[in-house]
This record gives sequence, C-alpha cells and structure tokens, in this order.
Amino acid sequence: MFDNLSDRLGTVFDRLRGRGALSEQEVRDAMREVRVALLEADVALPVVRRFIDAVTEKAIGAEVLKSVTPGQQVVKIVNDELVEMLGGEAVEGLNLDARPPVVIMMVGLQGSGKTTTTAKLAKFLKEKHGKKALMASLDVNRPAAQEQLAVLGEQVSVATLPIVQGQQPVDIARRAMESARLQAADVLLLDTAGRLHVDEALMAEMKAVAGISSPNEVLLVVDSLTGQDAVNVARSFTEEVPLTGVVLTRMDGDARGGAALSMRHVTGKPIKFAGTGEKLDALEAFDPKRVAGRILGMGDVVSLVEKAAATIKEEDAEALARRMAKGQFDLNDLRMQLRQMQSMGGLGMLAGMLPGMKKAKAALSQSGADDKVLVHMDAIIGSMTPKERANPALLNAKRKKRVAAGSGLQVQDVNKLLKMHQEMSRAMKQIKKMGGLKGLGALLG
Ligand code: GDP
Repeated sequence: MFDNLSDRLGTVFDRLRGRGALSEQEVRDAMREVRVALLEADVALPVVRRFIDAVTEKAIGAEVLKSVTPGQQVVKIVNDELVEMLGGEAVEGLNLDARPPVVIMMVGLQGSGKTTTTAKLAKFLKEKHGKKALMASLDVNRPAAQEQLAVLGEQVSVATLPIVQGQQPVDIARRAMESARLQAADVLLLDTAGRLHVDEALMAEMKAVAGISSPNEVLLVVDSLTGQDAVNVARSFTEEVPLTGVVLTRMDGDARGGAALSMRHVTGKPIKFAGTGEKLDALEAFDPKRVAGRILGMGDVVSLVEKAAATIKEEDAEALARRMAKGQFDLNDLRMQLRQMQSMGGLGMLAGMLPGMKKAKAALSQSGADDKVLVHMDAIIGSMTPKERANPALLNAKRKKRVAAGSGLQVQDVNKLLKMHQEMSRAMKQIKKMGGLKGLGALLG
C-alpha cells in the first residue's frame, strides 16, 4: 500500500534525519522534493500546496531548527500534517444511532467494488458489532448484480432480500425496508445501481431511494486506483446526494495514494473504510493516524519525538552529551541508557535513535528476541564488577564466562553486548570530531 510514495518520502527524510543541524534552505529543499513526490502520487494540487505551506511554516520555526534533533522534529511535523490531510485524529465510525432498521446506502460507479464492499460491511457489522443485517441489491442495470449479492450473502452468512424479477429500485427499497422490519434486522444495507459514469438518471435514482429510506449513512464506494478520478466522482456525488462518507477500495494495490490523500480536502467527506483485498474480510476502518504511519514508515521516529519530549529533560541530555563528547562512554552509561529505553517503551521505539542500535536491534531481532533483550543486557552488566563496567577491556574469556553464568545467559550474549557497546563508543568518538552537542544531534537525528 502506498509503496511508491512511501519510498520517495523515505529517501527525503532519511537524509534529513541524518543531519545534526538544519538550515531553512535545507528544509525548503526537502519540501520541494516532498512536493514532487506528492504530485507524482497523484495528490490534488491545492491539497499539495496546502500541505507544503503548513509543513514549511511549522518546520522553519526557530524551535525546530534549534532543537537537538531537527530532522526528527520535521518528520513529526510532516506526520501530523499527513494525519490532518487524511482526515484528522478522530476515527470516524458508522452512525448506527437510529431506530432499527438503520439504513446504510451504498452508492458508486460500476466496478468500484460496491457490491463486494456491501457484503464486507455486512460481515463487519455482524462480527464486530453483533448486528443482524439484511442486504438488498437495487442494481437492476448490471446483469446478475442481484444474484452476485445473494451469493456473497451466503458466503458471509447474512440474509439478502429475495429477488423479484422486473421490480424497480425504489420499489425494491420499499420492500427491503418492510422485510428488514419484519425480520427485526438491526441494519439494512442497500446496494444501489452503478453506472459507468455519473449521470442524471443515476443521481435521480439515488435521490429517490434516499428519499424513501432515510439512510443514516450514504457511503460512496470508489476505487483508489483511479486516483483523481475517484476524487472527482466523489465531488460529483457530493453535490447531488447527502454523502456521509467514502469507502476507498483496492487500497491493497494502490502504490500512489493520491485518492486517499486528496479525498478529505477536495470533498469534505471522511474516508470511513478501506478495502484491502478481494476477500470478504479485507475491510479496515480507516484510521488517518495509522495510514499516515504506513505512508511515512517512520512511526518509531514520530512516537519517539512524542515520548522524548515527555521523558528526556534537556539537562540530562546535555550532561550525557558532555560525557560522550569526552569519550567517556562505559558500560555504566550504556546501562543507564538501556534503562531509559525501557522507560521509553522498549527497543522497537529506539531503533535507529542511538548510534549502533539499529544494527544491534537487527541482530537481536533476528535471534527472535525483542524487548526482553533490554532486560538481559541489564542483567549482564549487573553481573560485572564495577571495574569491569568502567573498563570493559578487562573482560577476558574467563570473566565473560563468570558474567554469563551470573546473568543466566550465554557467553555469546555477553559478546553481543560488548560488541554493541564498542559500536556505540566508536560512534561517540565521532561526536567529538563533529563537535559536541551538534554532533550528538546528527547521530540522534
Ligand atoms: P461493483 O460493480 O462496484 O459492484 O464491483 P464489485 O463489487 O463487483 O467488484 C469488482 C471487482 O473488484 C471484484 O473482482 C472484487 O473482488 C474486486 N474488489 C472489490 N474491492 C476490492 C479491494 O478492496 N481490493 C481488491 N484487490 N479487489 C477488490
């Protein structure tokens, strides 16, 4: 999902994160690249402009550029704006608040995935909300559309309205409402007719059906692969029928993301669900935060900035930086850092933040370990003598064996820890060369 866009943005931000200090010009240059990436992803131009303006304004603020980790701060700002672009923090669920049967009307063009999505949604409502649903197809245009819904209904074990040949959509809708009432269904899903294009006859039919069924939700189903066309279709529908939300299908195959990123601002309608495959359980509630995280692929950096802001005090960071700058990074310091990591939410969060950690983490997770590793490393250091901690070079084979036994682990675990420490201190030495706190920023960023 969104692979192309994700790769492009990843390249820009990897470079940015690697910088200790950022100038305004560097931020602007990066934003120019982001702009191109978004346009290539088929995001609507006004949406791109708005986004770039908002990010630039926040990112070149004095606080960001002067911070120890400007690169990370910029990633966080971009993330927050992406969330905004996708619809904001709130996850908008379905409004099922009405006397049952609550009517959900599904609208959209032919081939958008409307019928499949209707069945997916019925399954979702049944399994996630314990709702009894009835589905009815009002699609008298497409041959076998009604039969298709009946087949899908059987697959998800949700009732469908029996087909009466020759009946017209508005009459089918009336019959469906009556039947839903008789069956005491909680929800009635109306799968309306599609067309190849938006046309007057289609809109008139949608209005008539909405008029007699008073739907709680009118969900437009659009194919995300069609990019701006999907957004334009949504705009046309918005002008005619009271849409309450959008379902974007085929997100699983969408490498670009233009429809998802433009939809909210161009149409003002929230994306409520995403179709992520042909199977009938491939439907996800659309969560802007999660999708932004996927696009940026830097969820760790984002929550790190959030958590770091909450847990690391400026003075502590500076004191540590001073020690590091003097090349004084022994196992006591490592241990302190490991404990800080634990309090900040474990190893996964910290990947890439500390010099050498990324490699260490990759090695460790290959061995199937994860946050337990932090506890193990702490135990290993705990089994050393104060002298060994201050001067790890003392640890010969015999001592390593003792430490391993003391911590209940293997000599190879001790070796791994020492190797990680070595890598970290080597990186610390670089800080010295790069000049103190700024250098630290570069390594952290
Ligand atoms: P309708 O004409 O709008 O009712 O479209 P259909 O529901 O018949 O769907 C058309 C095709 O799209 C079918 O082959 C579906 O399996 C497929 N489809 C629907 N939603 C998705 C999705 O989210 N991902 C993928 N990969 N295929 C989908």
